[in-house]
Amino acid sequence: MTESGLAIETRALTKKYGRITALDGIDLAVEAGSVFGMIGPNGAGKTTAMRLLLDIVRPTSGAASVLGSDPRTGGPALRRQIGFLPGELRLDARITGRALLNHFASISGPVAPGAMNAIADRLGLDLERRVRTLSKGNKQKLGIVQAFMHEPRLLVLDEPTSGLDPIVQQEFLAMVREASASGQTVFLSSHVLSEIQQAADAVAILRSGRVVTVSSVEKLRLTATRHVRAGFVGVTAAELHQALSGIPNLSGLAVVNGDGPTELTATVTGNIDPFVKAIARFTVADLSVEEPDLEESVLKLYGVDTDEASDEK
Ligand code: ATP
Repeated sequence: MTESGLAIETRALTKKYGRITALDGIDLAVEAGSVFGMIGPNGAGKTTAMRLLLDIVRPTSGAASVLGSDPRTGGPALRRQIGFLPGELRLDARITGRALLNHFASISGPVAPGAMNAIADRLGLDLERRVRTLSKGNKQKLGIVQAFMHEPRLLVLDEPTSGLDPIVQQEFLAMVREASASGQTVFLSSHVLSEIQQAADAVAILRSGRVVTVSSVEKLRLTATRHVRAGFVGVTAAELHQALSGIPNLSGLAVVNGDGPTELTATVTGNIDPFVKAIARFTVADLSVEEPDLEESVLKLYGVDTDEASDEK
């Protein structure tokens, strides 16, 4: 940890490949012990940012500090404190997963007895299979074991959930939360916010090499759109309309008065509390709130064309 309590700090970090600006002056501050997500469509610069932090490529201008060191001078001592999962994992070895991990362990530093097996078991990975015969998802699991097994202070994970089925994704996100709880810092990327939002404390939205916004997941949630549906007993449609008329962030209100409960549907943008308080005076028989599509609402909020973004996936 640096004196400032930051595991990663970048200042105007810029990377140009000839005429292409892959990263255009980004400022990031990642708190030690936190889970920090970088979200952006393909080509946004996520991989480039991670490569700069690991000194795989060097910046055109600007600076970075990783665990208090400059990646350009940190060398193996810094590298051993980082667990890195590359975005394009090319594993083609004829040896078994276990033999490959043992090889990585000889470079990365000590791995606690049983750590390899424990992580592989959690993810459902067979370490006795030859690496080249593994499916894409199983290769990704092998990459995750490799990144976590020596309990590094910092985990840098490029699109870690890609290729994992939903149950394994959940297990992986639990591992991320546990790593953070034990003081490790996790810096991860995804092009789908919903895949990492439950694990991330803070999220940077990247677009065309620039940071569009940095926000807590909670704040993003507060700007998001939610669809609500509620059923009431002993209330007329007119009473509901009157009770909800003064709520500015409610739209599309529709009330149906059938034989059963009075049904309401509406869209709430941002803070849901005024709506909840307004309906609380009635007898609520049923209530559902549809999880917001953060990705869509966030990109819209910052003026990014979401159709264009999804085309790039
Ligand atoms: P993806 O999810 O597709 O990996 P990303 O957000 O990680 O996207 P980067 O891979 O960092 O984005 O790429 C950012 C931009 O820099 C893209 O326009 C890409 O084409 C370009 N770029 C990246 N690496 C190189 C390179 N070695 N040479 C030339 N251009 C590059």
